[in-house]
Parts: sequence; C-alpha cells; structure tokens
Amino acid sequence: MNYSIALIPGDGIGPEVVEPATEVLDAVGDKFGHVFNYVELEAGGKAIDSTGEPLPAETLEAAKQCDAVLLGAVGGPKWETLPGHLRPEAALLGLRSGLGVFANLRPAALLPQLKAACPLKDEVLMASHPEGKATFDLLIVRELTGGLYFGKKGRVDSSDTAARAAFDTEYYSWAEIERVLRAGYAAASVRRKKLCVVDKANVLESSRFWREVAAVVSKDYPDIETSYMYADNCSMQLIRAPGQFDVIVTSNVFGDILSDEASVLTGSIGMLPSASLGSPTDSLAKNDRPMGMYEPIHGSAPDIAGQDIANPLATILSTAMLLRYSFGLEKEARAIEAAVNAVLDNGLRTKDIANRSNTNHSNTAEKIVGTKAMGEAVLKALEQ
Ligand code: NAD
Repeated sequence: MNYSIALIPGDGIGPEVVEPATEVLDAVGDKFGHVFNYVELEAGGKAIDSTGEPLPAETLEAAKQCDAVLLGAVGGPKWETLPGHLRPEAALLGLRSGLGVFANLRPAALLPQLKAACPLKDEVLMASHPEGKATFDLLIVRELTGGLYFGKKGRVDSSDTAARAAFDTEYYSWAEIERVLRAGYAAASVRRKKLCVVDKANVLESSRFWREVAAVVSKDYPDIETSYMYADNCSMQLIRAPGQFDVIVTSNVFGDILSDEASVLTGSIGMLPSASLGSPTDSLAKNDRPMGMYEPIHGSAPDIAGQDIANPLATILSTAMLLRYSFGLEKEARAIEAAVNAVLDNGLRTKDIANRSNTNHSNTAEKIVGTKAMGEAVLKALEQ
C-alpha cells in the first residue's frame, strides 16, 4: 500500500535524526511491501530564514493532506531573540493545533540494555515495581493543544518599571479535558489498566475542573483504576518510585515538564519517541486511524548539532509509533522496535546512552557509535 508522510526535519539535529528514520521506514516498506512517499516541508528556524514565518501556511496545508507527519525538532540560538509568535517553537504550537493533535503519547520505559544509563539504584526501582523488578514502563499522555501554552497571554505596560507585568492563562474546556482523558483510558485499556490524573487541584481551579471531568469520564472505564496526584508530588514520585505508574494523563505544561524528567530515567532524552494524535480518541484500542504527528521528545540540541553524535533512536522509535497508530501496521512497528533492541543488545551506544558508571549489567561490551552508524546498524538489524 502507498502512504504519504509529511517530513519536517527542522533545525539543529533535526535533519540528522530524521534521515536515518526515513531510511528505516523505507527498509520496512521494502520488507513488508509498502511505499512511503515523503513530502518534505519547512517549519521552524529553516522556514523563518526562507519565508520570514515559522510555520508558512503552505506547510500546514500540505501536512494536513498527508497521512501522517514526522518531525525532527525546531529551534536554536539564531532565532532566540525574535518575538514569541515569530520564534521557531511557534511552528510546533501551530502544527499541533492546526492538525488537531491534542493527545501527546510519551512512553518512558527502561530497556534492560540501558539499565546502567538509568540514574536510579536498583533497589529504588524494585521497591515500586509491582513484581519487584528493577525497571519501569509508563506512558505520559500530555494534553497538547490547550492550557497555558494556548490560553490568553499578554503584557501590562507601564512607565513605572515595577508595575510592568506579563501573564499566561491556564484555560481548559470540558471537551478538551474529556477527549484527552479518553485517549488516556484507551491507552490504559491495552496496558496495565491504571490511570493517574496529575494536576495541582490543591491550588488551581482548572485542576479542580480536570478532577470533576475525570470523575464523570472514569465511570465509563470501570475496569481501569483511576487515581489522582499533585504535579509536585508526581515529579518526586517519578524519581522515588517510577514503577507505581502505568498511564499518567496531565495538562500541556505539566506533561511537558514531567516527560522530560521521565526521559532521564530511561537513560537519555535521545531515546524517547512521541505520538501526537487527533480524533478519534479511542483509536488506540480500535481500528479507526487518527491524524498523527510523530517526533522525538527532544529538541534541536544545538550544542551537539552537526557533530554526528545525536542519538537517532528516539526518532526511529517515533516511526514505529507512526506505523502503529496512523497506519495500523503493528507487525512493521514491532520490526522496528525489535531492530532497535537488537542493536542495543549488540552493545552499540551513542554517547548519551553510554555506560557512565562502568557497571555493565549485560555481558556485551559497549561500542560508542555516531548518529549515522547507529542508523545503519538498525537497518542491518531489520534485514535479519
Ligand atoms: P534539547 O532537547 O534540544 O537538548 C537538551 C539536552 O539533551 C542537550 O544537552 C542535548 O545535547 C541533549 N540531547 C537532546 N537530544 C539528543 C539526542 N537525540 N541525542 C543526544 N543528546 C540529545 O533541549 P534544549 O537544549 O532545551 O532546547 C534546544 C532548542 O530546541 C531550543 O530552541 C528549544 O526551544 C528547542 N526545542 C524544540 C522542541 C521540538 O522541536 N519539539 C522540543 C524541545 C526544545
């Protein structure tokens, strides 16, 4: 079958990690008899340089016409002094809201091969794991098109410097909360059937409203255990006892912060893929396919751009999510995940996931490789 994929490599390490990811997709296409047609589009700093806008209208329109979107990352110091709406990151917000992808799925699991790269001690991991294992496997479902990042924002000007002010607004409608909760429940129904709503209901009215909606929506999922946790406690619990979590559903800003924290526990932000999905929200458990944008959770990493040291695995794993959620190609998605596993089993590591503590939990010697070599190794593993 033929599929069209909008490709937005972006800035910094974006193009470096997107290239091996498309090579992996093509190899999967060859192996399983699919053709992936790419429509390469500009957004972020690259688009600012060529058009003056972070998200040209043609980019959004063309992306909407495709079956799915694969994005590298945008941003960098070159554009940091521009006003907010003209900065590269405005392209992300525009793409997310323009494509209507409101549920951002960010899985964070500790792979056995990367245990040495996890900063937590075994006994800490084991204490919270339901079966006492030194690992964790959680999924953060972050609301992506509402809340603080999209609410009313502004400045209060004054000739008196001390009186100048700025504000952002956390605003959520019932419908926005309900649909992301349902995406979370759909995900939990095919996992360990636990869902934790993370908020600041002790101080924020919007969080109390999240709990009201959750109390109603949860009734439709009696086989899933619903719990509630404050975001500050959650940031601590992720480090103290990550094994207690299955699915976390939370707002845009809390999800942004907590998923970066969770990424560190997996060894590196360079390992974590993400899927941003639109309606239908129950598609995780059924066969309808939602609009999807797929990207690593990391940014453009200007500090390592152009050095062939960025970890491409988060982007490669994002293509597995793309095949699974947007195209329903489960076998093909698993083939990519298995190839990544095989490469890690063989001891290949980019610098960010190399063993820092010299305590190698596996018997395989580690070999540090660059971005390109890591991509090639995944391709080779796919052939086997
Ligand atoms: P970042 O994620 O780019 O980098 C944080 C740290 O992680 C850096 O030390 C970086 O070298 C490292 N890192 C990130 N990805 C890596 C990879 N694949 N392999 C190895 N190491 C990796 O976050 P930042 O430094 O806060 O932001 C840099 C730029 O990216 C900013 O302009 C920011 O706005 C933008 N950004 C974009 C996105 C996106 O496009 N979705 C997300 C976050 C940040």
